[in-house]
Amino acid sequence: MSEAKHQSKYIFVTGGVVSALGKGIASASIGLLLKSRGLSVTIQKFDPYLNVDPGTMNPFQHGEVFVLDDGAETDLDLGHYERFLSENLAQRHNVTSGRVYETIIQRERRGDYLGATVQVIPHVTNEIKSRLRMAESKNGEVDVIITEIGGTVGDIEGQPFLEAIRQMRLEVGDGNTLFIHLTLVPYIASAGELKTKPTQHSVKQLREIGIQPDVLLCRSPEPLDASVKEKIGLFCNVPPAAVISAIDVESIYEVPLHFNRQGLDDLICSKLGLSCPPPELAAWEKMVAKIMHPAKNVTIAIVGKYVNLHDAYKSIIESFVHAGVENDCRVETVWISSEDIRRDGAGKFLDSVDGLLIPGGFGERGVEGKIEAIRFVREHKIPFLGICLGMQCAVIEFARNVCNLTDAHSHEFHRELPYPVISLMADQKSVTDMGGTMRLGAYPCVLTPSSKSYHAYGKTQVSERHRHRYEFNNEFREQLEAAGLKVAGQSPDERLVEIIEVPAHPWFVGVQFHPELKSRPTKAHPLFREFVRAAVDYREKRLVRNVTKPENERKLS
Ligand code: GLN
Repeated sequence: MSEAKHQSKYIFVTGGVVSALGKGIASASIGLLLKSRGLSVTIQKFDPYLNVDPGTMNPFQHGEVFVLDDGAETDLDLGHYERFLSENLAQRHNVTSGRVYETIIQRERRGDYLGATVQVIPHVTNEIKSRLRMAESKNGEVDVIITEIGGTVGDIEGQPFLEAIRQMRLEVGDGNTLFIHLTLVPYIASAGELKTKPTQHSVKQLREIGIQPDVLLCRSPEPLDASVKEKIGLFCNVPPAAVISAIDVESIYEVPLHFNRQGLDDLICSKLGLSCPPPELAAWEKMVAKIMHPAKNVTIAIVGKYVNLHDAYKSIIESFVHAGVENDCRVETVWISSEDIRRDGAGKFLDSVDGLLIPGGFGERGVEGKIEAIRFVREHKIPFLGICLGMQCAVIEFARNVCNLTDAHSHEFHRELPYPVISLMADQKSVTDMGGTMRLGAYPCVLTPSSKSYHAYGKTQVSERHRHRYEFNNEFREQLEAAGLKVAGQSPDERLVEIIEVPAHPWFVGVQFHPELKSRPTKAHPLFREFVRAAVDYREKRLVRNVTKPENERKLS
């Protein structure tokens, strides 16, 4: 941009009517569209809840905790941002009320306010505004900063954030700020109509606090026709051209394409006075076409604790979509509760799948079922990927069933153990606080040449993100290696085992880190890509085997 003094443009995305309309995906899609027009873009989420970060929140409440390179434990929307924008974000890109108040209270205790009464306006709003600008100062001269405000308009705890963005428009000017509001336009079957009233109410609430939205994204089951757009425009004081349909789609990666077809990025650029070329979306379109029309199918079982809560495993699900693109296949995931495996045996569920993934987790519930599932796939040579706790369970299974270390287990679950093959890292022994104290963030991992992991990555050193307290216990390393477990990756000082493999198996890999956090739609994570490739190979053999079996023994394909 050519102004003498660089001025970043601010886009604020708010939501109304109900939560879970896809504000994160909408924000990420806008980011992708602007980036694909050659603009430099950064994106952040401000969450009004009082937790300092979501690291201490139950996945049932909050879904997956998305860990960044710098160890920040963040909202799962940051995962969408990284995936859509293909950028690595940092702690400053996810700010909560808890973090804002923590800073203010520490400052107050130090006496920094020099006797002033500390108030929401201006002290809290000033702190929010300085954090709104932080992404700008730390990222150098970015053209556009997109900020998503969590929650919905009308939430008590969201008020200081809305007040802060209202003040931002005053400070940086109309032409440098854009308010985008995502609402719901439901279809009422008995009336046979899309209804605009909830949107009208939501915008009314925003206007009451001094924010006039510039663009409305209307989530609806079908596109809004011209008359609906006109009506919404009239009642909400927005030109009909700035009323955009956000229809339900099969794949989240279609969303930016839908927005682009309705001229959203042109509209944003003209309102913000950004002159830039049209977007380069060819690679994105190709990726979406692959998702929609794959040539093959594979079925991967996921055995975990939160099998009914797929948001807890968001990045894993997305990683399978990306790996499917590179293998030209649709990855169907079947979710199996570890309790069911305990009750009915692993064979009932795993005989008809092409791979098993055990995700990360905490706590003992379900661990024995996971170990049983791992034993089944190891013995039946079904491709396996274990992530974090999943890798730890694979080590326990191998110790128990191959090395005959009866009752081998992890110190996470029992203190007194004959064979603690997974144990506490030395620097974790004195930790008492739960928040932000695990081994968090990106660490280097050196791969063992000739391992499957090395072939997948195609290089000897990689960087992967972690979130755990426990580790492979090196006291058992020699014994497990002698029995056929391969250490395929470790920390550069060789103290920490990061990847294990069973070379005698077609594809059996366990990783202490979380590869799902680094997978991107246009570049699948190498381990997910190769895992799915192994599952495709296994499926071909399984189906041939099935066809040659007598009718009554055939399993479904
Ligand atoms: N509970 C295990 C640990 O703390 C694994 C953590 C995880 O799977 N993220 O080491």
